[in-house]
Amino acid sequence: KLGFKKKEERLKDGLEKSRTGLLSKLGKAVIGKDTVDDEVLDDLEEVLITSDVGVATTLKIIRRIEARVKKDKYLNTSELQQILREEIIALLRENDTDKPAEFGAETPAKPHVIMVVGVNGVGKTTTIGKLAWHYRQADKNVLLGAADTFRAAAVNQLTIWSERAGVPIVQQGQNADPAAVAYDTVASAKKRGADVVLIDTAGRLHNKKGLMDELSKIKRVMSKVVPEAPHEVLLVLDASTGQNAMQQAKAFTQAVDITGLALTKLDGTAKGGIVIGISSELNVPVKYIGVGEQAADLQVFDRVSFVNALFD
Ligand code: GDP
Repeated sequence: KLGFKKKEERLKDGLEKSRTGLLSKLGKAVIGKDTVDDEVLDDLEEVLITSDVGVATTLKIIRRIEARVKKDKYLNTSELQQILREEIIALLRENDTDKPAEFGAETPAKPHVIMVVGVNGVGKTTTIGKLAWHYRQADKNVLLGAADTFRAAAVNQLTIWSERAGVPIVQQGQNADPAAVAYDTVASAKKRGADVVLIDTAGRLHNKKGLMDELSKIKRVMSKVVPEAPHEVLLVLDASTGQNAMQQAKAFTQAVDITGLALTKLDGTAKGGIVIGISSELNVPVKYIGVGEQAADLQVFDRVSFVNALFD
């Protein structure tokens, strides 16, 4: 039960600020112009950069559009929007090799272990809670592991979400050994025949070596129970921090093998363009997006729906 609003509506509502920002800037860039000339391309470049798409990705998009303008000789500015959409979708496709399955689909492994990383405040606990809720709604057997033992609040918050989602949690309180919690969670999941395991971790970026050591220790002990675990290392980033999220992503990808991104808080920000740039620059797929505070506001990322919601 996804509540009153449909998925598309939630996405569209959540991207409202990004859409209005992008469309009004695009409108200004082509005003009084009927062909896509160098000036329009320059303005388009600025539109994308100020929409948080990121410089490298913006240049990629501009080069693709330039090539099409050359090939087709004449393009009017109303065609420009359509081409821009197509090129963004194509660019997202390059990093979309392993789109996550919808929550009801059979999990690739049993238990399918997802380790979730990210710095405090980005929405990590909330994202785990929302994932648990979705999987539970789809009749999956879920187990949470509270391995962010550094903050008491993290364990408490995750416990609240476990109740809300109706899924059990393994926790040993604050200051417990995160690796021990992760080990117990995966062992218990195996014994119960759980479908999905979600492990919360403390993402302290204070020093890269410390983070790397802690995360690799957690990974190591889990793989003693389930050799391929974790099957997924999901990095949660706060989209509303724009280029800061990009910096965090770079730091984390250097410390641990990230297999996917979850971008939160897209509602309430005009920085939705970050979704386009971040996956392209890091070569890591965006797997989930958060477009609101309710459980149903977490969505499996779909590039076509995303781009449509951003432009329509
Ligand atoms: P953590 O410290 O990374 O575990 O962050 P939390 O999960 O506690 O989230 C921090 C705040 O962000 C909470 O108030 C959440 O409700 C809020 N939050 C998380 N995801 C979203 C989202 O997609 N949209 C909005 N509007 N708020 C979110």
